[in-house]
Amino acid sequence: LASEVRGELGLGELDWLNPHTLAESLAIPILPLSSFVAEAPGVRHLLEVEQDVFSAVTVFAGTRRTIVHNDAHHPGRQHSNLCHELAHGLLHHPPTAALDDTGCRHWDQDIEDEASWLSGVMLVSDEATLAIARGRWSEREAADHFGVTPKMIQYRCNATGARLRVQRSRAARSRRAPS
Ligand SMILES: [Zn+2]
Repeated sequence: LASEVRGELGLGELDWLNPHTLAESLAIPILPLSSFVAEAPGVRHLLEVEQDVFSAVTVFAGTRRTIVHNDAHHPGRQHSNLCHELAHGLLHHPPTAALDDTGCRHWDQDIEDEASWLSGVMLVSDEATLAIARGRWSEREAADHFGVTPKMIQYRCNATGARLRVQRSRAARSRRAPS
């Protein structure tokens, strides 16, 4: 699915995937939280005091989706937050009420894990982690190139086992090489 998305956007596996471009192609508008300050001054708290409390949410009107996201987050984190919400859309996850009857937040861990996984693969492809492991970019450079946090680069490299795979193929090659 991540490769299909890249293909449809005309991107190779090593290109930066801009979540705003993806959202446009899916006709999903993105609204920054800061655009609500005039109508709802209370959102300032989420922008300035407790930024970690709110990342992003998909709001439904019938089948139409709109994403509201915390634009006070680090740009790399914003990209992950946006891609996570777009992944929910690509995976056709159904809308649920934000809160249940007792005022607790509805939370489906499987659905959240799926969205987070797809989001990570869309932002940093398996190919990209192999290129990083081969030394094409440092973690910092890769984070800048793919518009994500260094933590996301580490997470994706661990998830694909890229460093181990590159080490193994290098070891196999040196065993085959004539001495
Ligand atoms: Zn989610």
